[in-house]
Amino acid sequence: MWTAVAAQATDWGRLLQGALKAGTAATITDEDLAEAVRSEVKQMDASNTVCSSSSPYTKRLKRLTRGMTSAGGIKLNFKVYKTSDVNAFACPDGSVRVFSALMDILDDNELLGVIGHEIGHVALKHSKKAWRSALLRSAASDVIGSGSDTWAALSDSYLGELSSIALTAKHSRTHETQADDYGYDFLKKNGRNPWAMGLAFKKMKKLSEGKNSSRYDKWLRAFSSHPDFDKRIERMRQRAKRDGYSVK
Ligand SMILES: [Zn+2]
Repeated sequence: MWTAVAAQATDWGRLLQGALKAGTAATITDEDLAEAVRSEVKQMDASNTVCSSSSPYTKRLKRLTRGMTSAGGIKLNFKVYKTSDVNAFACPDGSVRVFSALMDILDDNELLGVIGHEIGHVALKHSKKAWRSALLRSAASDVIGSGSDTWAALSDSYLGELSSIALTAKHSRTHETQADDYGYDFLKKNGRNPWAMGLAFKKMKKLSEGKNSSRYDKWLRAFSSHPDFDKRIERMRQRAKRDGYSVK
């Protein structure tokens, strides 16, 4: 999925190098991690085609997310990448990126459901945990293990790999359920129909069973290592019913 991303050595490398020199990879501070995420997002935005504010994709996303300014105290920002890849992700700094090809296949509710779930991982700090462990794991095995103490020795693709690891992180089943619930509450709080969560899962289930399912594999796998669509749809259905929404 990250073929469109050509990462380069950024400040992230410098920061992590400092942390490693200071002792072990575990000394990476929250501030350094935040800085690393920020610079990596900047890099991804620079490496992909970001739709302009006049693009129908941007206008649609803006309309859908109007008023959704923060989640769990984290300020949100949204952008669309123009690409034939199907995907969407959210980073610990509140950056939400939706791929145009995904917008082509999802209706408004389905898109809101996907966004709600991804924002859940950010607000609940699951994605921060994923980025941190990707950094620690890679740094520990590849940098410390090889005895290399210079980031200059690392290839550009290596740094690209870090964000790839972090963004395709496997969340536990518990975290997936928590992100679903957060997404539900988040949409409801923002005046949207929270049953959008269930509608998103229904669509994903359909896509995963369709004859073009391989086209969606990467996204579906990145979205959830525990699809459990039937259970998740049912869970959202029960909540929505209790709250008086029409669930079809
Ligand atoms: Zn998830």
